Amino acid sequence: MRLVLLGAPGAGKGTQAALLKEKFNIAHVSTGDIFRENIKNNTPLGSQAKTFMDKGELVPDDIVMNMIADKLKEFKDNAGFMLDGFPRTVKQAEFLKTQTKLDAVILFDVPDDEIVRRLSSRRMCKACGGITDSSHKNCPSCGSSDLFTRDDDHEDVIKSRLKTFHEQTEKLIDFYRSEGLLLNVNASGTPEEIFNSVLDLLNHDKN
Ligand code: AMP
Repeated sequence: MRLVLLGAPGAGKGTQAALLKEKFNIAHVSTGDIFRENIKNNTPLGSQAKTFMDKGELVPDDIVMNMIADKLKEFKDNAGFMLDGFPRTVKQAEFLKTQTKLDAVILFDVPDDEIVRRLSSRRMCKACGGITDSSHKNCPSCGSSDLFTRDDDHEDVIKSRLKTFHEQTEKLIDFYRSEGLLLNVNASGTPEEIFNSVLDLLNHDKN
């Protein structure tokens, strides 16, 4: 199964990706995670990306497309994956079409005010990269108490990331609808409710 997870930052793509990975045993490819890893390791790609990420802007298409083309080479034959955070522009989507055939694009739909609320309280785990919120003192996945706020989860950057989403990434909804690939999920509920809707849409048994 080859999926794209589409939605505003904070729509729950990462959380649903973890559930989908467990259920279907497919790889989770997050371009944001790859950039953050490169920033942590002080690579040239990391320093190129950081300038844009810190402002809530998109990293230029050619940089992201080169990176994803390399990553996709790891998936031979029909090995499954889900892309989280890629594509984000029509140019990236056109490029992806030349690289692989997708089974579905899942759109996680959440109103902006809820996005701002979620991102302001989102915390990441330094130990395992898991996602939780400020009501937790420890990571629900690994128990670590090393939770932090992502640099771009501060209010001014959240606003510009949302603006970027509406200006550039939202165009992908029409793009994938016209390709007949779009599955629309109301992503305002709990992670479990949302996951059940995803399974329904994928026509998959919930057990
Ligand atoms: P994310 O973790 O998906 O919210 O991504 C964090 C940041 O990484 C974004 O705000 C962008 O600056 C950058 N980024 C991630 N994926 C892409 C992409 N496909 N195109 C451009 N920039 C990206």
